[in-house]
Amino acid sequence: MSHLTWGGVDCVELARTLETPLYVLDEGIIRERCAEIRSDFMSRWAGTWACYASKAFLTTSMAWIMDQEGLGLDVVSGGELYTALRAGFPPYRTNLHGNVKSERELHLALTSGVGHIIVDSLMELELLDGLAGEARRPSDRRGRPRILLRVAPGVDPHTHSYLVTGQAGSKFGLPLEGGPDGTSLLTEAVRFAMSSKSIALAGFHFHIGSQIFENGAFVEAVRRVAACMERLNKELGFKTRTLNVGGGFGVPASPDEPHLPLRLFTDAMMSVLTEECEARGLTRPYVTIEPGRWLVSRAGITLYTVETIKRLSDVTYVGVDGGMADNPRPALYQAQYHAVLANKIGEPPAEKVVIAGRCCETGDILVESAELPTVERGDILAIFNTGAYNFSMASGYNRLLRPAVALAHNGWADLIVTRQTYEDLLIGDVIPERLLT
Ligand SMILES: *Cc1c(COP(=O)(O)O)cnc(C)c1O
Repeated sequence: MSHLTWGGVDCVELARTLETPLYVLDEGIIRERCAEIRSDFMSRWAGTWACYASKAFLTTSMAWIMDQEGLGLDVVSGGELYTALRAGFPPYRTNLHGNVKSERELHLALTSGVGHIIVDSLMELELLDGLAGEARRPSDRRGRPRILLRVAPGVDPHTHSYLVTGQAGSKFGLPLEGGPDGTSLLTEAVRFAMSSKSIALAGFHFHIGSQIFENGAFVEAVRRVAACMERLNKELGFKTRTLNVGGGFGVPASPDEPHLPLRLFTDAMMSVLTEECEARGLTRPYVTIEPGRWLVSRAGITLYTVETIKRLSDVTYVGVDGGMADNPRPALYQAQYHAVLANKIGEPPAEKVVIAGRCCETGDILVESAELPTVERGDILAIFNTGAYNFSMASGYNRLLRPAVALAHNGWADLIVTRQTYEDLLIGDVIPERLLT
């Protein structure tokens, strides 16, 4: 019977020394993905770049690694931007996204000098134009703040309905085509941006969804956007210099299934974009991709301690010391996970169990069906593929302490986020004077 290792580190030992629940990231896998992005996308296709969608997982260490790997960083809030800036990440290599941005967040983006602000609506565009006029820094060598307009190409990427983001009628972006009355929000936005003296429109952005396993919808989105680029060029004389095609590249649920190569998605998109631009007499724009999950999901596992086992007549519940507070994805959209007993690797499966989270919700089931060796109290359970959208989606539900994050590499592990303490839970709590009398 052997132990699971992650990044060369014994997971049972990690659980003993750092306690559970514990997120563990294999730094080697993150760096392998970055190397694949450089070799199979950035070096293979001229005029391309990649930004890591940091909402998947962001800490100052992660921003540091992305900087070392030469990638850009997508942020969707003032908090993510602040984290990147505090990690010393070059602001001009960050992009600010989001369908709702507060005035304060736009102001932070303008004054810190982010690379692109991706504008989601006409109202945001007008607000930004005003703010940029006021916030103009004379020392800004890069001139006016650069923006992209987010468009919704109206394609269906065949993923969970909660993960579709570029369909017709989406809350994200502006539709490519006009409404029944012939007016087009996008045309209006481009016209407005072209006439602005405070901001510079560089091009467009789309992100059609997440956990996508085939390239059909990406290719269709590129075709539609290329047709729109031609239309805007003819109607308004607008030349698209940058096209950001988003992320969403899928990661199989089981660690036994092969990793999906980036080229599966990007080669198809780049070929079609090149063809379309040639056929339409357009210069191919500079292209950016934004992988999130694809880059970090497989690098992460979560370690839990088995606290209780309840054997009912038709089901066995294995209760662990974490749950939807550290991984809300099964409860949010039936995300599938694969689990093993980290202290019983190599033991044959003996039972089919349900892995139950400890939160006070019937829906807090981490794994619906896991085949494990005979489970005993105190076993260490490892759930795979938790590198993306686990730590970043963690909540304080039930006042559970947010787990620590360890970064493992070549047999060595470092804490990159410490476990919350009970004292931390009280930060920000105040009892007003009125109640104390
Ligand atoms: C979430 C998001 C991504 C990354 O999505 P993944 O599915 O994690 O690859 C990329 N771009 C934008 C704009 C996003 O909102």
